[in-house]
Formats: sequence, structure tokens, C-alpha cells
Amino acid sequence: MIIIMEQGATEAQAQKVLDFLQSHGFDVRYKKGEIYTVIDAIGDKTTVTPDRLSALDGVKEVKIIREPFRLASRDRNPEDTVIEFSNGVKVGGKNKPVMIVGPCSVEDYDGLLQVAQAAKEMGCEFLRGGAFKPRTSPYDFQGYGEKALQYLRQAADETGLLTVSEVMDASDLDMMCDYVDVLQVGARNVQNFKLLHAVGKSNKPVILKRGLSSTIREFLLAAEHILYNGNPNVILCERGIRSFDNAFTRNVMDIASIPVIKKLSHLPIIVDPSHGTGQRYLIEPMAKAGLIVGANGIMMEVHHDPENALSDGKQSLPIPMFKEVMKNIYELENKCLGQE
Ligand code: PEP
Ligand code: MN
Repeated sequence: MIIIMEQGATEAQAQKVLDFLQSHGFDVRYKKGEIYTVIDAIGDKTTVTPDRLSALDGVKEVKIIREPFRLASRDRNPEDTVIEFSNGVKVGGKNKPVMIVGPCSVEDYDGLLQVAQAAKEMGCEFLRGGAFKPRTSPYDFQGYGEKALQYLRQAADETGLLTVSEVMDASDLDMMCDYVDVLQVGARNVQNFKLLHAVGKSNKPVILKRGLSSTIREFLLAAEHILYNGNPNVILCERGIRSFDNAFTRNVMDIASIPVIKKLSHLPIIVDPSHGTGQRYLIEPMAKAGLIVGANGIMMEVHHDPENALSDGKQSLPIPMFKEVMKNIYELENKCLGQE
């Protein structure tokens, strides 16, 4: 850490910072410049956090040199994390990007099965569908709960797909684990630390979505909560962040976060252009953009009848369009990415 003292900070204030650090076993170096005094400190940040240091009188700024997400960081774990499922599907590393498709919310079984069949036909690996929906308004559709999970499991088993569904409350975890292969933690719960701890203790892989206003560091620290609680199988998901212009897109899909996160972390990362843009016609170009910059998979909302969907119809692909998008994605993979 580098601690910069305020202009005009007294010697006594700087000495207090030095004493504090040394009493916690830090190796410190002190430089008094013409304007600023700077302290260079090396030691264990779990005992002295930057937060604690900034509270000391005379401290202007504390800069971290090593990122605080130890378990998620590539520094300490250079090898890509690869998550392997019982049917041989692998997520992460150099494996073929996976496709996770399905409706925003699970509605009727027949509609879901049509989507699952199309997903299988197009070579996708996962069927997604919400049973517990985090909705901005309490008057919007909240999901069909366990019944929806039964449908999801049944449609996935019938077609040979793996399942993904969002968990909103730790008390649902045990029940959900009977139906899902991957737990999703949604954007609105990225800093619900109790939920992160609970999924950290579960033995199911977790898709963690970036929060509406998460910085990349906050996002990786949220993943760190899951890893720290014992679950190494975390898949990050870039799903767009809020910005000032939502006239034509629901969110701003931060494509640069993919290579940034790949540099910082060994965890797999996928993109969700449905939530990332809110627009059906933007799913294909943004999915392709995600693949080009190295995403390990794509999550897309697909509905058998988007115009009558109970949630997110506008950003869901109807089945014929989904098939077209998949063909174009495979073409891109074959041409540019050297993948079969
Ligand atoms: C979803 O996947 O349906 C969802 C609600 O996503 P997000 O948490 O990214 O908004
Ligand atoms: Mn949705």
C-alpha cells in the first residue's frame, strides 16, 4: 500500500501512521517530499485495511497495489478455472464457449419445451429460466416458484440440457438444488453478502451477474465472497451497467470488462446481451462482440412467443430468430475463432 499524507500533515501524524503499521508487522518506508509525505507499506492487508488507515488523522489517500480479491485474482492463481459438469460440458479456459438460453421467466411447460428443443437442436448446453423474479415493481410478474423449477428440470431432462435459475433467497437454496445445475445470482443481489455466503457454501456452480452499478473491482470482490466461503466454481456474467443514456439501450454493455476481467481473474466470464441491451436486434451483434473479446459463453433470452412473454419479451428472441442468430454465431466461431 502507498499512504499519502495530506499537505501540511504533521510529523506526529505521520509517525502515528508508521507506528500503527509497524505494530501490525508491516515493513514501512517513509519519504518526506517538499509537499507530501509518502509511506510505502508492505504487509498483511487483512489486519490493516485501507479503510482503517484512511481513518487516521492526516491521511489523504491510501492506494492499493495488489488487488484485494485474492482468490479471484490471476496474480495468485494464473491457471484459468474450468468448471466441468457431469455430462462433460466444460466452462472456461480454452473450451468452446457455452450457450445458455431460455425465457426470462418460466411460464407454461409447452412453450418452455419448444425453446429447450430449439436450444438442443442448435447445440446449446444450458436451459435458463427464472422461477423467482427480481422485479422493480411488486405489481409485475414475480415468477412461479418451485413449479417453474419443476418445468425447467423436466424440459431440460427431456432434451438433454443443463439448467440455470436465479436464487433470490438463501432459504430457497436446498429446494433449488434439487432442480438446477447452476445457481444464478442476479444483478440486484450482487452485494447481498448473506446470499453470496450461502451460495459459497453450496456445491453448485454459480453464475454471478454484474450489478447495475458495480465497478469491476466490486464485481470481483462479490465473486471473492463466494470463493472465500468455499465454492470455487464461479462464472461471472457481464450484463450491462446503468448509464445516462437509456433511450435506445436498456443498459450499457461493457464489452471491455471481458478482457479486463480476463487479465485480472482466472474465473470464466460470459456475456448476456439480452439484459445488456434490452433489444432483440442487438443480441446477435453483442453476442459476437463478446465472443471476439474472449467470453467463455453467451446467455440469451429466448421465448416461444416474446410478444406475450410475462417478462422481458422485448429482449427475447423468438425461436426462428434464435436459430438464425446461432447459425451466425457458429459461422463467426468457425471463421474467426478457429472453433468447431
Ligand atoms: C435474468 O437473468 O432474468 C435477470 C433478471 O438478470 P439480471 O439480474 O442481469 O437483471
Ligand atoms: Mn430477464
